Amino acid sequence: IVSIEGLRKSFGSVEVLSGIDLDVHPGEHVVLLGPSGSGKSTVLRSINLLERPSAGSLVVDGREHATPRSSGLFAGAPRGTALQLRRTVGMVFQQFNLFGHLSALDNIVLPLRSVRRMSRRDAEERAAVELRRVGLIARAGHYPNQLSGGQQQRVAIARALALDPQVMLFDEPTSALDPELVGEVLRTMRLVAETGMTMIVVTHEIGFAREVGDLNVFLEHGKVVETGGREFYDECRSQRARDFLQAVR
Ligand code: ATP
Ligand code: MG
Repeated sequence: IVSIEGLRKSFGSVEVLSGIDLDVHPGEHVVLLGPSGSGKSTVLRSINLLERPSAGSLVVDGREHATPRSSGLFAGAPRGTALQLRRTVGMVFQQFNLFGHLSALDNIVLPLRSVRRMSRRDAEERAAVELRRVGLIARAGHYPNQLSGGQQQRVAIARALALDPQVMLFDEPTSALDPELVGEVLRTMRLVAETGMTMIVVTHEIGFAREVGDLNVFLEHGKVVETGGREFYDECRSQRARDFLQAVR
């Protein structure tokens, strides 16, 4: 569903992604790990085209989205638009990015109206379904500043899910939360994983990663150092990954 090949990204003269390859299959749960500055967020932001890759190929749901040059004659996949991509990929950030002047319900209604072109009535119905799913239907009328950080993040997850994405990206969704609120967000993410949603998650929550990560990818200096399946957390090959896991555990 997501296929990345030779992805490079430079900011000015500094290359922060130096040729990333990653293949994500439908229903797969991928965990991206690595030290600060290794390029994890830039990978996610490239998949969502919040960053324009400098080179490489990015195919999401059968459409090429990276640099025009790389899509070339032989790349095969038809070119997709940013709008198509945004409809396919949902993203949840460290900072919840809710609209402060809108209730929890309206935070979900708004993109349903603008991206999905739904009527207000249909959008409200769908938003209520999603709020129920994350256990917050009783808070539908609350504004973000009346919700805890964990609740706000669950609204943000509900908002992304409401758009029926085929892939959900999570960038350290719990790292801005007080420790006692982390669990409820991880629980919600587990529920999302259990629905078979394709997920790419940047997290330092190793317990969660170990449970959910079908494919675990360790990045350093903009390169994939090591990838592994379920066994990754017990038997990684590279010293760098081992040191990293030691440090965050
Ligand atoms: P963290 O764990 O701290 O979130 P990360 O692995 O997500 O780190 P990125 O945010 O992807 O790392 O950043 C990778 C590198 O790219 C860093 O050195 C960062 O300073 C640099 N970088 C990211 N965004 C920009 C930007 N807009 N302009 C210039 N440099 C940037
Ligand atoms: Mg980051």
